[in-house]
Amino acid sequence: MHSLTPQKIAVFNSLIDKADVVSIVTHVHPDGDALGSGLAFKHYLEQVRRKKVFFWFEDNYSHGLDFLFTAGETEYIQSLRQDERKYRKAMQNADLLLCVDCSGMSRTGDIQKIFQGTKMPKVLIDHHLSPDAGSFDLCFSETEISSACELCLQVLKAMPDIDGDTAKLPMRCLTALLTGITTDTNNFANSVFPSTLTAVSELLACGVDRDKVLEHVYNEYPEGRLRLIGHLLDKGLTITPEGVAYMVLTRKMLRKFQIEEGDTQGIVNLPLAIKNVRVSILLREEIRQFRVSLRSKKGTSANRFAVEYFHGGGHENAAGGKLLIPRDIVFKGKASSYIEKSARAFFEKEDNQ
Ligand code: 5GP
Ligand code: MN
Repeated sequence: MHSLTPQKIAVFNSLIDKADVVSIVTHVHPDGDALGSGLAFKHYLEQVRRKKVFFWFEDNYSHGLDFLFTAGETEYIQSLRQDERKYRKAMQNADLLLCVDCSGMSRTGDIQKIFQGTKMPKVLIDHHLSPDAGSFDLCFSETEISSACELCLQVLKAMPDIDGDTAKLPMRCLTALLTGITTDTNNFANSVFPSTLTAVSELLACGVDRDKVLEHVYNEYPEGRLRLIGHLLDKGLTITPEGVAYMVLTRKMLRKFQIEEGDTQGIVNLPLAIKNVRVSILLREEIRQFRVSLRSKKGTSANRFAVEYFHGGGHENAAGGKLLIPRDIVFKGKASSYIEKSARAFFEKEDNQ
């Protein structure tokens, strides 16, 4: 935990002390870790430090994460989506900006424009490869950790008013943290370090309801999601000779199975269960581009694949990016041949290293 020095904690603590209003942002298409780390700080800053906090992110999240918000908060978020202007202005005038679960502001989408040229101190808390530390006044960045939520718990525990006692953190903060650790480790299937289980053990000892988290996150999907998975695995999965499994999810399929974008999380992991598969890629059709999710087994870098062929990045074994039309492929029907070509080129280089 080399980024968590007493000096940095003291600086962060005094930045919080001096701020009345704090803006928190996270990446586009927020997942459990993005919402969990943002909400954990929101609850801490509001309830323990008595700050005014704005937390904002682009796009909607999966319905399975609705439980992190009260009904009133969900309604408020939806009303803000109709007219964001006032909220954006308020966020821009905050005394401190906290960016969580992003390697930099570019991952927040349009939100980055709100903060361009603003003078408030900016703090990054993240666990991705290659963080944009130069754009922040203070940066807590670890990659040998399960999730941004695990790192947030360490930072929160180091705050003088918490003083190592997890039980002093509000329950909603702890529940948000467990949610992010759970989703980023794919329910403790990957990226689990000894520190991860210690952190979770502390959360459970404080009374966080893990059964409730699991029920909401994994057992409340719409029926169409499972039927779509059946369809994709049967008819839509291709495996290249190099061991790259890929599936293309069209907007037409989402309509047919009546599911939303957020409900597609986790599908990309499934082909890794096949022995010869080294990388799994899921393409999701959008307007003039595909969003790309990549997962890899140990020994193969999903991050490098995403950086080299999909304008993206992320972690060693879980990354994402985009396939642009017409920049990368002339029309959407060319997506398969692009993947097959890049699979050959990627492994030719990788296997010769
Ligand atoms: P997912 O496949 O779940 O959307 O993303 C997997 C990981 O890759 C996440 O940690 C996410 O932050 C990262 N990621 C997803 N899309 C992008 C992207 O466009 N650029 C970069 N740099 N990282 C991404
Ligand atoms: Mn994360």
